[in-house]
This record gives sequence, structure tokens and C-alpha cells, in this order.
Amino acid sequence: MKRYHLVTFGCQMNKYDSQRMEGVLASNGMRQVEEAENADVIILNTCSVREKAENKVFSMIGRLSSLKNGNTKPLIGLGGCMATFWKENIFQRAPALDFAFGPDALERLPCIINERIATGKKQLDIGFGKKPAWDGPESFVRPSTVTAWVGIMKGCDNHCSYCVVPGTRGSEVSRSADSILSEVEELAKKGFKEVTLIGQNVNSYDWQSAGGRISFPSLLKKVDKVTGIERIRFMSSHPKDLTDELIETISGSKKICSSIHLPVQSGSDRILKMMNRKYSSAEYLEKVGRLKSAIEGITISTDLMVGFPSETEDDFKQTLELMEKVRFDALYLFIYSKRGGTPAEKYDGHLSRGIAQERFEIAYSLHKRLILEKNAKFVGRTVEVLCEGQYNGSPGSGDDSFGVNGQFGRSDGNHDVAFVADRDMTGRFVQVEIADSSAFKLRGIASNERVLDE
Ligand code: SF4
Repeated sequence: MKRYHLVTFGCQMNKYDSQRMEGVLASNGMRQVEEAENADVIILNTCSVREKAENKVFSMIGRLSSLKNGNTKPLIGLGGCMATFWKENIFQRAPALDFAFGPDALERLPCIINERIATGKKQLDIGFGKKPAWDGPESFVRPSTVTAWVGIMKGCDNHCSYCVVPGTRGSEVSRSADSILSEVEELAKKGFKEVTLIGQNVNSYDWQSAGGRISFPSLLKKVDKVTGIERIRFMSSHPKDLTDELIETISGSKKICSSIHLPVQSGSDRILKMMNRKYSSAEYLEKVGRLKSAIEGITISTDLMVGFPSETEDDFKQTLELMEKVRFDALYLFIYSKRGGTPAEKYDGHLSRGIAQERFEIAYSLHKRLILEKNAKFVGRTVEVLCEGQYNGSPGSGDDSFGVNGQFGRSDGNHDVAFVADRDMTGRFVQVEIADSSAFKLRGIASNERVLDE
């Protein structure tokens, strides 16, 4: 039995792909090990959206190459977007690599490894298939028994001017609704309570079945009917594809959570146009207004980029103003990263790192102030939490104040909630009285449990 060590970089899609990879490798008799030193094969599942993330991967390959010590073992492989971004050049850039494979080739991973061993030649598999690669039968390794990601589409057709994803993950392809529903039904039978429908741009999901076209809202309505699944989430959504039908579908369902990730990227119309985002800040705010009036208490998270080429103080000020208006519940804040082959790479007016960093810090402080105010309002209230397991504190924070009784879960609005209960509540819906809040977490004490209908 071969032992493998897997390291995942980047976004939720990559984490999802890693779960699929673990399933594929396990069903081929491979066993995962914690330490790279004990592995026969080391796999790095990578992201090339930002240069900093890529540099981390290259320096890790450099460190890992010392394990080979003149031998062929351990094999080192690179998966994900960096493989499709660098193509055959990846072997010049990182000579210690034995194989590289794109997001669509992960089902073939055991064959790629075997080919490398049998032929002694470096392997590169970066083609895109027409069908979503996860449509076939496969086994998954899921880190939770309560909540699961379900892939519904892959690729992206939006071509934002700064982004490599359309090139590294290919064009949009939706997965068949039947295949999605049978996976959700299977999860419900196993006792999972929550599913998150995942894809690069889920609200452009589009499947032509024998009975007619299935859009994203129609898919949500079908998932809503699956008995046993009590909560439905989805990510990510593009603001331009957020329709009234989708808003009505969320507001009309008890299971679809009142929470949406809606990346805005900038508050300046000039920058949004340069980014090729296809909406203005007024249109974004108008959609946020519709969401907030149709769905009581909806929480909105976003991605925001500072330091885009030619971004002026005034453009940045408009971003801060938009943040004040929306008051986001979670923020993924980035500094623009120049990526080869994207239109933005050739734009004039690339900003210095110092200016971009300064704007990052200003935007981050504003978000922190806004979210602290917002979360403080939960203190004294009761929120329903789906318990996902024992709470071990945030990694590296030293936060273990709940000791062995600590448990964690998420509210309908996707707040992380840590709480104490007198018994293991994993998989149960618990009413938690909130006693304390921070920018990233609510903390409290469990009171009642919601008993689910049979
Ligand atoms: S929507 Fe834009 S930023 Fe998101 S993956 Fe597609 S091209 Fe990249």
C-alpha cells in the first residue's frame, strides 16, 4: 500500500477537490499520512490566483526535494490551477516535480502516479473534459459527518480581467441535476443535515434535462425537497447573475440559509469596468437592498480587492463608502496580484506594494469596526446552531477556554458559533444563548435542542 501526503492551498474549490482526491486515492488502496517524511508520494493541490500563493508552493517544493536525497522517492506531484497555468514549463520552474495534473485530471491520479513509476518519465495531465469530472461513481473522504460540499458546476466564463481561473479551470460546465440530487439523497441517508452547493459561479448553473431546462433556482427547489437535509447553502454567486427568481427561491424556503456570498471586488464603477465585472456599484447596492428586504436578517459576505492598477484615492474611498453602506458580515480582502496572461497585467498604473498594503489595512480596520458593532448586537440573543463537533479553539490562537465541553457550529446566517453544552450535540440543532462576540465568532451556552420531524 502506498502512503501519500496531501497539502492543499487556496480556495474552497481546491479544498473540495482535495476531498475528491482523497476518495480516489483511498479507493485505490493508498493511505494518507500526516508527515511528508513518511510518504511515498507527496501531492500539492495548488492555486495560481495570487503570486504569493504560488511562491509559497515553489518554496515548499524546494524544501520537499531534499527528502529525495538522490533517490526517486518520495514522488512529488503538483495538482490544481498551477499545473494548468504553467503547463510543461512547470518542470523547468520546479525540476523536483515528478508529475503535474489539472483540476479535471484528478480522477486519473492513480494512473498518473503508476505511469511515472512504470516509465520513469515525468507526467503532465492538464486537459479539460466536457463533462464535470465528478459525474462518475467515486468515493469521497469528507471531513464532517454533518455538513458536506456538493459540486454542481465547474469552470468560469466571466473573464474578469485580473483572474486566471477561466484559463486554469476551463469554461463553465454544469453537472446533471439527477447526479446532484442522487448525491444529496445519499448524504441525507448517511445522516448529513446540511449541504453546500459549490461551484465557481453557481448562479449561472444551467442543465438541459429531458424534461426541460433546469436553472439554479429550479435546482435549489429540487434539493429543498430532499427529506433529511435541513439546511442548504451555496457559493459562490456572481452579482450579475443574482435574479429576482433566486431571491424569491431563498425567501420562500425554510431550508435555504439566509446567507449569501456576493463578491463585489470594488466600490468604484471605473475600476469595476476595468475588472470586467459587468455591474456598477449602484446595481450591486440595489441587489443587496432587494436581498435585505426580501429575506429577513440575511447575511452578506464578499470578496474585495484593493490596489487594482490605476486605483486612485477616490476609487478607494468609494470602496470604503460601499463597505459602510452594506456592512458585510464577512470579508475576504485581497491585494491585487499581477498574473501573467491576464488583461489587467498590461494595464497602466500598477500601484506600489506600500500603497496597496496601506489601503488593505485601512479597509481591514473599517471592516473590523463594522463587524464588531454588528456581532455585538447578538449578545443576549438566542441563535439556532447546527452543531458540527467539538470546539478545539481557533488554530494558533490559544483559544481553548471552553475546554473539553466546547462545541462549535454555524448559525443560519453562517456565523461561527462556539458554545458549551452538557453533552455531545454533533448533528443537532441547538439554541445557543450568545454571551460574547468578536469579529469572527459568537460564543455562548446551549439551552434547548430543536427536535426534527421524522
Ligand atoms: S467570476 Fe471572475 S474572479 Fe470569479 S472565477 Fe470567474 S473570472 Fe475569476
